[in-house]
Amino acid sequence: MSAASTMDEVFDRARAAIPGGVSSPVRAFGSVGGTPRFIASASGPHVTDVDGREYVDLVGSWGPAILGHAHPEVVAAVQEAASRGLSFGAPTLGEVELAEEIRRRVPPAERVRLVSTGTEATMTAIRLARGVTGRDLVVKFAGCYHGHVDALLAAAGSGLATLALPGSAGVTPATAAETLVLPYGDVPSLEAAFAAHDGRIAAVITEAAPANMGVVEPGTFNAEIRRVTAAHGALMICDEVLTGFRTGPSGWWGVENDVADGAAALAAAADQGSGARARTPATSSYSPVSDLAADVRARRDDPLAADAGPSTTAVWTPDLFTFGKVVGGGMPVAAIGGPAAIMDALAPLGPVYQAGTLSGNPVAVAAGLATLRLADDAVYARLADTSRAVRTGLTEALDAVGLAHAVSSAASLFSVAFRDERPRGWDDVQAQETFRYPAFFHAMLDAGVALPPSVFEAWFVSAAHDDAAVGRVLDALPGAARAAAA
Ligand code: PLP
Repeated sequence: MSAASTMDEVFDRARAAIPGGVSSPVRAFGSVGGTPRFIASASGPHVTDVDGREYVDLVGSWGPAILGHAHPEVVAAVQEAASRGLSFGAPTLGEVELAEEIRRRVPPAERVRLVSTGTEATMTAIRLARGVTGRDLVVKFAGCYHGHVDALLAAAGSGLATLALPGSAGVTPATAAETLVLPYGDVPSLEAAFAAHDGRIAAVITEAAPANMGVVEPGTFNAEIRRVTAAHGALMICDEVLTGFRTGPSGWWGVENDVADGAAALAAAADQGSGARARTPATSSYSPVSDLAADVRARRDDPLAADAGPSTTAVWTPDLFTFGKVVGGGMPVAAIGGPAAIMDALAPLGPVYQAGTLSGNPVAVAAGLATLRLADDAVYARLADTSRAVRTGLTEALDAVGLAHAVSSAASLFSVAFRDERPRGWDDVQAQETFRYPAFFHAMLDAGVALPPSVFEAWFVSAAHDDAAVGRVLDALPGAARAAAA
């Protein structure tokens, strides 16, 4: 069999066995056309396809691979864990250590529950928010993706944006009606939603820095969400599945709040409203519409009920965080974190049910823990440098051919939009020359650089992108820019 035929043959087999030939829709190259690269192996900054072609990878498994692929110490940790058994259905020391590491980096996550996917994390956060507030409605922002949770699929960016779908079939009208979709960054519309639905909104969920409609820089919107939710007794859920531990050691929350190291930097934050740690009285109060809501409120307002430990001077702190991707280091781990007063409403302590046969899986946890332990300041500095170099090369290449473009970034995450100004939300993101991306993408691929196969996705660098890998990207950009301009 010729090398060239292998990929097509595998894709044919895949389409016969798997819907669309892929296990997750964006992988299908739907918006850029052509045959998806089936990957045989990956190492450092590279992926190698089944035809033996190596690419500099700027997908990074959609986020987890901050250290690059198959980091020897992560692989060794996985092998060691696997040699002790694959799954026990019982608690392990490893999951305690991973929860402690998350808590160390993000101290407001006093309690951490491990799950297997980001989708489970956001689904659980929503259920928990409804459980503790006794309210039904959830606010999300157009273009933010929070996984394929029924209630969160409206105007959800990512694969839905790539496939130009407004939402998903199979979500009942009743479920959709419980989600209010608002424009990202629009404080008046957020206030109006609370005015119109006073006492009914359980939570506002937001991507910490939106990166599933390309990157949209949040400005002060997170602090505004905090202010508005606190004033109305609703929870703020900060979805850091993508940004967590990629944009900085304490995630995007740490970046915005200048938390260099979570454990060291926190001090009192009294009135972050419902985002305050429970050892200082919260200014917001939940409607006591259920016994649970009243109970949680009482525990949050009781200084003795909370853990001892640093409180926060953070400008804003959400009630709940969701993490994923990097916390699993390439294996299926995600997490929900928040103050004990809320998190302890989860079963077995509280009445909000959540469970998982493979939750906290020992092999997956070993990968996550090894990754986080290796993700030191030098790693984040390298991510920043690499991101800056590629962003600069990208802008220079597109400038050289006179193409309107805007590069948006959130720490090392970035994306390009084919329009004059950086998009501020979903409407802006759609108002660009998306037709230019397929040619750009394929020119990069032909030159040996694998980009996300959609203009609506962020680019992911890793600490393993050495000068040679960055050089290959920079060399490829001018040709891709010419292809996009043609
Ligand atoms: N939340 C955000 C911000 C994400 O980017 C994603 C996935 O890309 C998810 C949630 C869902 O995570 P998973 O794909 O692990 O279910």
